[in-house]
Order: sequence, then structure tokens, then C-alpha cells
Amino acid sequence: MAEKKQRILVVEDEEDILALIQFNLTRQGYEVETAVCGEEALAKIRGQVPDLMVLDLMLPGIDGLEICRQLRSHTTPETAAIPIIMLTARGEEEDVVRGLEMGADDYLTKPFSMKILIARIQTVLRRQTDNPFLCNEEITHGLLSISPGRSLVRVEGERIELTFTEFKVLEALAMRPGWVFTRYQIVNMVRGEDYAVTDRAVDVQIAGLRKKLGPCGLYIETVRGVGYRFQEKI
Ligand code: CA
Repeated sequence: MAEKKQRILVVEDEEDILALIQFNLTRQGYEVETAVCGEEALAKIRGQVPDLMVLDLMLPGIDGLEICRQLRSHTTPETAAIPIIMLTARGEEEDVVRGLEMGADDYLTKPFSMKILIARIQTVLRRQTDNPFLCNEEITHGLLSISPGRSLVRVEGERIELTFTEFKVLEALAMRPGWVFTRYQIVNMVRGEDYAVTDRAVDVQIAGLRKKLGPCGLYIETVRGVGYRFQEKI
């Protein structure tokens, strides 16, 4: 029996970009639905929930941020969980931050290569089935190893002493490599453990972490105007 194709809804009002994405994703074996405005996108989602959405933020009428908000806030659990990759124009960092905080999974800035879009789609779809948050297994990246259950970090086998908050920040980032987190999201992930963490204090935590991690500090990448990401490779 043939494996069921994964359905991707692409929402983009620039028709040449839409056609290019549709062509490339279809060639990759995905079933592609398209919409040129927010209203059409929401109608298609109501008809059949896609496995993933590629969503342009700047749309006529209901824009991409509003679509994110609607899907994440007051629809069914099924639509609340649709992975979303946002497309943004240069200089829209604030929108990227808002989009990520509204629950988008990733973003790409135009112009982007189709190869990168496809790689991101594959990564996001893989996350759906492979969630490291569900286990307490050691996370290893090159010379760095993190043992979540034991709050233990080693660089080249040497134990590194981190504060509790530093550990929580590192753990949160490293469990989802390649995933961009805003400062606000990082605060939320460590909140409850240490109420003193504020938005700006995240930068201080990151600076401290990088210093202590030495060569492995490079894993923590600053995403300008947006937040931080744990790189898959350094
Ligand atoms: Ca647009």
C-alpha cells in the first residue's frame, strides 16, 4: 500500500512565489493545497486540516499573524497543533517574534532557497513524531553532552558547573536544535523554576552559558532581532 502523502497548505498572495513553492513541494512528493489570502486559508483548514502550513505573514485581509492567533487560540486541538513555517520579508523581525510567540514553529526570510524551505519542512514534520521532551535521555551534540534528569553538562567529558537557570535555558534550547526561541519563550520555559528571570536577563544567562561552555558556546546562536537558536552543527 502506498504511504499516504503529507498535505501542506501554502498561503501566499504573491502568485509567482506560490507557484514556485507548489511546484517544488509537489515534486518532493507532498500533496500541496494553496490559498492566496487568509480567508481562503481558514476555509481550506476547516475543510481538511493540513499536516503543515507554509504561511506568508503579509497577506491582504486576515494576515498571517492573525491566522496563527486564530489557529492557536480558539479552534480545535487539531488545528492548534498544525506546524507552521512563516514566510517574512526582510525587516519584519518584530513580526517574526510575535509569530513565534503565537505558536509558529519556524520562519524563513524572503528571498529563500527552495532547498532550505524543504529542509525546514522535513525538520518540522519530523519533530511531530520525534519529541525529545518525552524522555530524559542524554542529549549529545559533538563535544557537548547534557543529562536532563541529572542537571549535568559535560564539555569534552569535563563536568561544567552551571547555575540552575543556565541549565534550564541550555536544556530548553538543546532539546530542539534548529528551533528559534524568542526571549519571552525562553523566560516562559524556565519560569516557575526561577521567578527572577526576565526578558533582558535571558541575554545575561546566555552570555554566562557561552562563557562556561567554552568551545561549545558556539552552539548557541543569536538570531538578530528575534532570539536564540541551538545550532545543529558548529
Ligand atoms: Ca505577501
